[in-house]
Amino acid sequence: MSEVFIAKAGSYDEKELEPAIFKCLESSDFFGGVIRPGMKVLVKPNLLSCREPDACVTTHPNVLSTVVKAIRKAGAEPFAGDSPSVIKNGLPELWEKTGMLDVCRKAGVRLVSFEEDAFETRKNGHSLWLTEYARRCDAIVSVPKMKTHTFTLMTGAIKNTYGFVPGYAKTRYHKMFPAVESFSETLVNIFEIARPHFTVTDAVFAMEGNGPGAGTPKFVGAIVAGRDCVAIDASLAAIAGINPLKVRTTRIAGERNLGESDLKKIRFPLLRPEDVKPASFTVPKTKIYHALPPAISKLLSRFFWIRPDFNDNCAACGICVQKCPAKALKLKGRKPELAAAKCIECFCCQEVCPNKAIGFRHSALANFIVNRL
Ligand code: SF4
Ligand code: SF4
Repeated sequence: MSEVFIAKAGSYDEKELEPAIFKCLESSDFFGGVIRPGMKVLVKPNLLSCREPDACVTTHPNVLSTVVKAIRKAGAEPFAGDSPSVIKNGLPELWEKTGMLDVCRKAGVRLVSFEEDAFETRKNGHSLWLTEYARRCDAIVSVPKMKTHTFTLMTGAIKNTYGFVPGYAKTRYHKMFPAVESFSETLVNIFEIARPHFTVTDAVFAMEGNGPGAGTPKFVGAIVAGRDCVAIDASLAAIAGINPLKVRTTRIAGERNLGESDLKKIRFPLLRPEDVKPASFTVPKTKIYHALPPAISKLLSRFFWIRPDFNDNCAACGICVQKCPAKALKLKGRKPELAAAKCIECFCCQEVCPNKAIGFRHSALANFIVNRL
């Protein structure tokens, strides 16, 4: 039976964080079971973009440093890395701003770039490129951040493995798999190839609203850990008040028997999701995509769309233009201009915008439905 370990952490202060994380790890078989002396362990945070820890876009550095401490306690040697979506002025700036450089320097942990070296593999008929580091280690400990996601509804344990894909290929997969369903299948393919051995989720401050880059920090006060990423994501959805099976990556991974998506079949030896569930949790305005069966939304696609809308926060930095997989944007004057016919509604532009300058425009039908959900 899958087990998920949930403990309360009131803040990122070491005095609160360390007991919570260690309680989860000591209640599981992390020490001596999953992580054993002499192992080389890759620690994989979510470093989506160059933002400070308080923005809640990235895994908090104190969660990473506590996990590193635990790996060392188990007698293993950690190193850390990720492939962020947005690297404007180079990885060193991103590592510094997200606080990773400081904690890794203090702990003597090597930070690696996933952009350097990748291998090609195949899953379910598709070619996929992943960082060599995913197979240059004895174990992977994933340290995701609990966030909403305008395209996939939520991001947690399964989606964190998308960071194993080097930057250039990530954009390509969005274009190759533009529908939520096919993109979620691709995410599960990647997860299936590079499955973390253990996961410690930063849900102290999560993100609600238009995550993963433009949402609002939300206090949940929890660490959610375990070996089964599918069960962890089902638990995170329950904490956010979302039916776990509405998160397609969780549903697909459950159907493929890669873990347990049924909350009734998950054991919670410490706290249960409802013990840490906040009174309210705002889901993205794109929730409509997840409410309709894929075949219906495809059928209605001419009349049913949600597209980016640019507001006055725009600083004309051009990041969204550069990252749009469909090349549907170009900078015109002080704002990007959208070629609507090219837009695949992936919301990558909103994900990477550093200024919360991108909202949504719904078609009349989408607006009608969304207001009734
Ligand atoms: S919308 Fe955001 S990412 Fe795009 S140009 Fe403006 S500030 Fe930059
Ligand atoms: S404009 Fe935005 S939503 Fe449309 S394809 Fe480009 S990145 Fe995706």
